[in-house]
Amino acid sequence: MSGRFLLAIDQGTSSSRTVIYDHAATVVSSAQQEFPQVYPEPGWVEHDPEAIWMSVQAVARQALAEAGATAADITGIGITNQRETTLIWDRKTGQCVHNAIVWQDRRTAAHCERLKSDGAESLVIEKTGLRLDPYFSATKIAWILDNVAGIRDRAVAGELAFGTVDSFLLWRLTGGRTHASDATNASRTLLFNIHTQEWDDELLELFDIPRQLLPDVLDSAAEFGESDDAMFGGVVPVLGMAGDQQAALIGQAGFEKGMTKSTYGTGCFVIANTGSDALRSDNKLLTTVASRIDGKVTYGLEGSVFVAGSAMQWLRDELRIIDSAPQSEDIAAATGIVDDVYVVPAFAGLGAPYWDPHARGAILGLSRGSGRDQIVTATLQAIAFQTRDLSNAMSDDGVTPSIIRVDGGMVGNDWFLQFLADILEIPVERPRNVESTVLGAASLAGLQSGVITSVSQIAELWERDALFEPAMTPERREHLLAGWADAVSRVGTDR
Ligand code: ADP
Repeated sequence: MSGRFLLAIDQGTSSSRTVIYDHAATVVSSAQQEFPQVYPEPGWVEHDPEAIWMSVQAVARQALAEAGATAADITGIGITNQRETTLIWDRKTGQCVHNAIVWQDRRTAAHCERLKSDGAESLVIEKTGLRLDPYFSATKIAWILDNVAGIRDRAVAGELAFGTVDSFLLWRLTGGRTHASDATNASRTLLFNIHTQEWDDELLELFDIPRQLLPDVLDSAAEFGESDDAMFGGVVPVLGMAGDQQAALIGQAGFEKGMTKSTYGTGCFVIANTGSDALRSDNKLLTTVASRIDGKVTYGLEGSVFVAGSAMQWLRDELRIIDSAPQSEDIAAATGIVDDVYVVPAFAGLGAPYWDPHARGAILGLSRGSGRDQIVTATLQAIAFQTRDLSNAMSDDGVTPSIIRVDGGMVGNDWFLQFLADILEIPVERPRNVESTVLGAASLAGLQSGVITSVSQIAELWERDALFEPAMTPERREHLLAGWADAVSRVGTDR
């Protein structure tokens, strides 16, 4: 092992980041750059692959410069990424044949509906743990094959490569020498059998996708290949890769069965570690590969809330009743818990466990005295209620979180975290390092290089910043949850 630092790349939906850590997981330098979103039609979301790639190179070089480091100082690279986003490129030139189709893109909704009405969903759920939804990669791949002239023939001839963003970055970093992905990213494509850990012929046939397109699937900590000499002025090995939510679970040291993390950014993503059991959800949660380390698969149960921190942006930018997201904390602290007004921020439908794409938001229970303070507080409360809906679903499916570790932009809000603990009836832990995703990527590279000797060492490096214990009376909680259930039932379309 050489070098004194680990370099982690976090290629997200709106920006790319690089953080350089020393071997004790302390941040040495970091850099971040946004890149443009492309919206060719309503419901479509694309990224220019070259914009992704340029931003990644820029932030990696900037972080290296700020650390005063060269390639020789870097022990290994870890990559974490926006998941499901789909790219297809030419194996000879490395050029993509179409923009990246982003996970949020809904253009393949009709394709998914068609497959569902053909009765394909149970097979898909059984093998992949996912649902037949445009969110995942398979129908996006099919769309490119069917809509870019000549591409299907070239795919069959083996001239093209498919990858999620991890795979694309690896290809570019290694100068086209490696076409690989990791099991967490593969588990989001709808083509990967999470039980056998292999690309699945029956699924490839269902979505009509030639196997020649697909990358090799490795563990999340593995020898993924070496960066091209020209990239950083020296060769650096890529040693870790994982999708962003799985990387966050690793960064939160969620290695034990039952350990749960919840990330509160734009949306909220909860994953519970279910150990070696791939639990099948009766509540429309997703079963996913949480990590694959030393060939051992750890499964997770995942649920998401579409609107979390973005509800604060809505209060700020649309209702214009707060100046900044952090102001919500002062308002809620001064107002106290609100038990008559309910805000249901179903701006883009309701996710698990409801999965009602047609639901829309509402503010309920207003009286003459209700004002800004109640609406702001009730909006924060709604995000906690939605997390409770997910944790109920998880318990019902067989994994009951006993503690929840939180990260993301919203967790600076202590009032929110106390209310969350009260509503979940379990302690909420905030780590000192709330950048769990990028830390998870670095940890994987550290593991593979031997800088970190075992996952228990990652657990030892995890430090708590604050613990929020439930303190609400059961009567009050029941009253609030009943009010929430009533409010949600009023916005649902299948009432
Ligand atoms: P993403 O990674 O999805 O871009 P971040 O993790 O950076 O998001 O979190 C940003 C989100 O957190 C924003 O939607 C913002 O409104 C919200 N946010 C930031 N600080 C606070 C706060 N103190 N209280 C409530 N929400 C906050």
